[in-house]
Amino acid sequence: MENKQVSSNFIKNIIIEDLESGKHKKILTRFPPEPNGYLHIGHAKSIVLNFDLADEFKGLTNVRFDDTNPVKEDTEYVESIKEDVEWLGYKWDGLYFASDYFEEMYNRAVLLIKKGKAYVCELSANEIRETRGTLNRPGQESPYHSRSVEENLDLFTRMRSGEFPDGEKVLRAKIDMASPNLNMRDPVIYRIAHASHHNTGDKWCIYPMYDYAHPIEDAVEGITHSICTLEFEDHRPLYDWVIRECEMECQPRQIEFARLNMTNTVMSKRKLKLLVDEGVVDGWDDPRMPTISGLRRRGYTPEAMRSFVREIGVAKGNSIVDAQMLEHFVREDLKLKAPRTMAVIKPLKVIITNYPEGQVEWLDAENNPENPAMGVRKIPFSREIYVEQDDFMEDPPPKYFRLFPGNEVRLKNAYFIKCNEVIKDEQGQVTELRCTYDPETKSGTDFTGRKVKGTIHWVEAAHALPAEFRLYEPLILDEQEEADEPEGEEAVETGTGTSADFLDHINPNSLEILQGFIEPNMAGVKPQDKFQFFRYGYFNVDVRLTSPEKPVFNRIVSLKSSFKL
Ligand code: ATP
Ligand code: MG
Repeated sequence: MENKQVSSNFIKNIIIEDLESGKHKKILTRFPPEPNGYLHIGHAKSIVLNFDLADEFKGLTNVRFDDTNPVKEDTEYVESIKEDVEWLGYKWDGLYFASDYFEEMYNRAVLLIKKGKAYVCELSANEIRETRGTLNRPGQESPYHSRSVEENLDLFTRMRSGEFPDGEKVLRAKIDMASPNLNMRDPVIYRIAHASHHNTGDKWCIYPMYDYAHPIEDAVEGITHSICTLEFEDHRPLYDWVIRECEMECQPRQIEFARLNMTNTVMSKRKLKLLVDEGVVDGWDDPRMPTISGLRRRGYTPEAMRSFVREIGVAKGNSIVDAQMLEHFVREDLKLKAPRTMAVIKPLKVIITNYPEGQVEWLDAENNPENPAMGVRKIPFSREIYVEQDDFMEDPPPKYFRLFPGNEVRLKNAYFIKCNEVIKDEQGQVTELRCTYDPETKSGTDFTGRKVKGTIHWVEAAHALPAEFRLYEPLILDEQEEADEPEGEEAVETGTGTSADFLDHINPNSLEILQGFIEPNMAGVKPQDKFQFFRYGYFNVDVRLTSPEKPVFNRIVSLKSSFKL
């Protein structure tokens, strides 16, 4: 059973306190993605945390698109985000767009101007940065700092009406250029951008900055606990300043937790977008991507992802989670659910010379020995079968128990066979094995006598169905350091580019494609059906590449792992 209770953590403790003290009767959390890319497993952490906390305390959760940067955002991303949240198993109580609050944000900015708390500044982005000071040195006041309220109101109105080009003017909060917190040194709160917005079209040519917009969005919705990642900790004083000075009725509390980082994984929409744009992968939902859509296509289940996220928990300190931990949870989830069957991914033909030509018998095979309720299926056996190329060696090392000339092995669910002859082509490649079977050794019958050490899997040739298998390795070879700084608008404003270094660490062997065979009873498998192929691991039917003629299977995970919880 899935345990939905959030394990004890500092955020939960704050909520319990706030409910007990009567500060809040009901909590309201939110998941606030910027629609500038597809969601990744890190977002899943935030989704699960916010929804689970609200569920546990009978509160509510909104999904709000933080769409304040028109240049990078798109409805394609909005749709994918909705799909991913629902697929993870959550239903939002309210679905909102920050852009729906643009008028409100504008009016609050006018209020700030009237209170003498904001001014229109004409310094360039560079000049603003240069006069911002450093941790040891205070910033310099802008020459526009002391404009009259009237002049500021007039200029801000004209900014809105489109009189000025991009970058010519900004609106800045008037706080403290000597503050030890750089975020409080008269931050820019509005900028000019003559760009069409996916939701508001050309209605606006000024857009609010994240640090100004986000607290207002939270307050407008009545969010009680605004949970975000650690890099916003230094921004909290500004968050609180905006709520206070904009005289918002509701005062949400910002709480920060450590973001999810994983080995062999880049975890940033900007970097993931680069992988897509550079054609390193075949889209946001490429099964190698750590996106929710990629993991879904690979075959991960919502149950496994929720269990993983709950297990890693929430902390105040950054750490890196072993990607194998996610694999552990999908194995756990599929162990009893996925039917077990046999597939040959690198076929080698075997002729069973003492089996009557034209005869076919149907043998019993358990669908999941660990879950007998899944029943038994019939699989054909005849004179010609496929085995795995890797299960044969002409000249084996000691302790090799699979097929080699003169050796006998057990065919899973069938008989013992003994290899008598090896057929090769002109290049010396093995093309076929000639074996004999022992009719006394039928699986499921009570025979005593000889034992064999090796059991191999196989598929009967005449009834076998062709299939493609895609095996994956990590896409990224080295652990990548994630920049611990807010991304998005901030990055646009300061001109920080995307560090493309990780592109040098792409694993050239991240995808291996093989053509083989599956059992006939697998005819008609549907995209997203999941199976355990004997000895190979868990596979998922690919939703894009599968055709009526040939299913394509993505390996989700192999069976074994050294990983221990
Ligand atoms: P990215 O850097 O991938 O673009 P982001 O934080 O800019 O991520 P948003 O769309 O702004 O992406 O994030 C939506 C929510 O998801 C935010 O509350 C953010 O804190 C959270 N989030 C994003 N990445 C992670 C992560 N790796 N671990 C936990 N939460 C995350
Ligand atoms: Mg962002």
